[in-house]
Amino acid sequence: MNTIELPVATNSLRTRMFINGSWVAAKSGAQLPVYNPATGEVLAHVPDADANDVNDAVSSAVHTFKSEAWRRMPPVKREAILLRLADLLEENANELAELETLNNGKLLIYSRMVEVGASAQWLRYMAGWATKINGTTLDLSLPMPPQVRVRASTQRVPVGVVGAIIPWNFPLLMAVWKIAPALACGNTVVLKPAEETPLTALRLGELALEAGLPPGALNVITGRGEIAGNALVQHPQVNKIAFTGSTEVGRIIGAACGQNLKAVSLELGGKSPVIVLSDCDPQQAAEGAAAAIFFNHGQVCTAGSRLYIHESIYEDVLERMKDIAESIVLGAGLDKDVQMGPMVSAKHYENVLQHIRNGLDDGAELVCGGAERPLPHGYFVKPTIFANRNKKDIRLLTQEVFGPVLIATPFSSVEEVLDEANSSIYGLGASVWTNNMSAALRLADELEAGTVWINTHNMVDPNLPFGGFKASGVGREHGAAAVEHYTETRSLVIAY
Ligand code: NAD
Repeated sequence: MNTIELPVATNSLRTRMFINGSWVAAKSGAQLPVYNPATGEVLAHVPDADANDVNDAVSSAVHTFKSEAWRRMPPVKREAILLRLADLLEENANELAELETLNNGKLLIYSRMVEVGASAQWLRYMAGWATKINGTTLDLSLPMPPQVRVRASTQRVPVGVVGAIIPWNFPLLMAVWKIAPALACGNTVVLKPAEETPLTALRLGELALEAGLPPGALNVITGRGEIAGNALVQHPQVNKIAFTGSTEVGRIIGAACGQNLKAVSLELGGKSPVIVLSDCDPQQAAEGAAAAIFFNHGQVCTAGSRLYIHESIYEDVLERMKDIAESIVLGAGLDKDVQMGPMVSAKHYENVLQHIRNGLDDGAELVCGGAERPLPHGYFVKPTIFANRNKKDIRLLTQEVFGPVLIATPFSSVEEVLDEANSSIYGLGASVWTNNMSAALRLADELEAGTVWINTHNMVDPNLPFGGFKASGVGREHGAAAVEHYTETRSLVIAY
């Protein structure tokens, strides 16, 4: 294997978690193994936190919040610290990228570009918001004695302690999507990474301290969702939960936050349609649709996992996609010659294979890929395409796979494909591929999706609101929308 030397990453494998600026073990002493999905070998052990540890992390975040060291710091200084953190990510890019690839399995180039590069970009963008959080002044109509005047204004204030719970598909980037706006607004944070991929989040906590964040402003607890994650959700001193993960867990967290009247934002699952109209160049459409499903091994919430191709070019596009899928080289993300890494864990690998078996059982026609193990070790799944020429009602059309598995269905009219596209419980992303901009915009007007792309897919930006319709979530991240998430509005009325 043409692997890259690992000079630094293995030095930063952690066995402790990060609370109040210090490395600590779980009080119970329990640990969780962390794996390398390319080999199935144990990479490290991290604390298996329980409610006692979560309580310590929340107490530290509460103490730092109340101490005013962060929320009352002049915004320009908060901005400078977040900018310094972005610089530190880039200065430590090799280490962070290697660590991510070892732990998550993704290609090293994507760890560099997306996990480190985009995280630095997001931090810089959100740092700028620290100095731009505004209130308003308002005219009131209160009945007052003639000699009394009234002045009213609003102020956006931090919500307090934010509990951030994230998934494993973009471990460092998802952490930054949460902590950057939360910290920019003056909150303190307890971050719980996914049990599969805690390593870069732990290093992020350490780098944040080095950047000048006060101890306790960012705590990173490792542990299982139903124990540590649940303790964070239930904790009475956590004022807001920012969650990204599955719709199933999102429902549990949303219900718990509703019960406790706790602010919550939910970025959940998807089953995003990719619609190829009849005028498309078949090769461009095939390349675009392949990238939409196979990027990050299909482990993307907005993965274009339902492909709808106009019947006039259906067979042509499908044939070209088959060629692309069969040319993808599988292997460890550290191997320079590889184009797709493994699924993140043994459990997720089994889930994805089950979805492929469901496709076969439901009568979808296998075009390429399948459930056979392509390599003797690791959790690799072949890029898999199913055809649904007879437009059957099959589970692959409705259930999120979160892997490199595509179902391609022909359509004959725009009305038909719109109905199909909107038939999902999800509504995260959608893309339309055509040179007919009028047709594209008319479809975009009707698609039930938080983001609609035209002639592209999976493009996100810190200035662009991101989130889902329907069962894909509640709330929007990024841009000005993020500031609303992480602040409360206080109204002030002065009689004089
Ligand atoms: P998951 O829901 O299983 O876990 C996500 C996080 O929630 C993990 O940190 C986990 O430990 C924690 N968790 C699990 N049960 C919990 C509970 N009862 N209480 C509190 N926390 C709990 O999701 P996953 O398998 O890690 O990630 C894949 C899912 O995430 C997919 O459905 C994908 O679509 C979704 N996702 C959505 C977005 C988005 O922005 N919409 C982005 C990435 C991933």
